Amino acid sequence: MIWRVFDFPRYTLTFYPTPLEKASRLSKELNIELYIKRDDVMTLALGGNKVRKLEFILGDALSKNCNVLITRGALHSNHARLTAAAARKAGLDVYLVLTPPGSHELQGNLLLDKLMDAKIVFVNDQDKADDVMEEIARDLRSKGKRPYIIPGGGASAYGVLGYIVASLEILQQFYNLKKKPKYIVHATGTGATQAGLILGMKLLGIDDIKIIGISVGRKARECKERITKLINITTKLLDIDLKIKPGDIIVFDDYIFGGYGIIVEEIVEIIKYVAKVEGLILDPIYTGKAMYGLIDLVNNNYIEKESIVLFIHTGGTPIPFQYSTIIKKYLQ
Ligand SMILES: *Cc1c(COP(=O)(O)O)cnc(C)c1O
Repeated sequence: MIWRVFDFPRYTLTFYPTPLEKASRLSKELNIELYIKRDDVMTLALGGNKVRKLEFILGDALSKNCNVLITRGALHSNHARLTAAAARKAGLDVYLVLTPPGSHELQGNLLLDKLMDAKIVFVNDQDKADDVMEEIARDLRSKGKRPYIIPGGGASAYGVLGYIVASLEILQQFYNLKKKPKYIVHATGTGATQAGLILGMKLLGIDDIKIIGISVGRKARECKERITKLINITTKLLDIDLKIKPGDIIVFDDYIFGGYGIIVEEIVEIIKYVAKVEGLILDPIYTGKAMYGLIDLVNNNYIEKESIVLFIHTGGTPIPFQYSTIIKKYLQ
């Protein structure tokens, strides 16, 4: 059934597979066998999980003959940066509707958005961003352009397809190692990545890997509702009948630290620790919080000692630079 995914047009934006590496020193420290899926290592504009989603979203946009992408995100949005890069690579125009939280300083993702000459519209009220995208689309249509609106985070059924394919890639890489992960841990925002992984593993007939989303802002219940919705629209798109049990969706909201986009000292400390032990760079909004969660789940024995664990590094490379002022404060 997973072959249905390959019926959908996909515009390739980078090279696969992304590396799967063992984090030997961090494994020893935590007394688990930790692997890292390096989805931060991609050739398109510093990479990240949005690239996988955008390949199918762009496939859909191009099949509908669209020539302008419109999306929304926080001022520090990785999704906005990668939508701009994807648009430029495919020769399309691009509009970004950017809202708080985030820094207006021309640094990190915002700097890259500008370098790619994305048309940026700043909107202070998050609740108005969808309307603003619609207005831009209407205006473009009246000028004879063909816009395509991408929901925030690339959280559409097409976006989910990207992580269904990633499941297959992860399985192949572990097969080559003759290992089976028991846990997959990653940062959860819109839930599209987690929806894709849950669906992907289900479609591959794998039911003994726990996929754990660490929420970066929303309450667990809201994350689960969003993931359920994304799973439902994606099975509909694929025209498959697949039942997901509520217990298949595991989300922890214990590591939000004040909310989405808020940077706290504990997370900067974890980033520093991982950088020092493993030479691995995380960011304070997504992967830093996810790694904090992983380490805490090991320490409180939710993840048993010696388990094989996969951490998905979902990207966010420019974010430490966008927030260097705050991070520097905690490094003193
Ligand atoms: C967007 C993003 C996430 C969250 O992914 P979702 O599919 O929206 O849940 C996690 N990590 C990074 C670095 C991101 O940019």
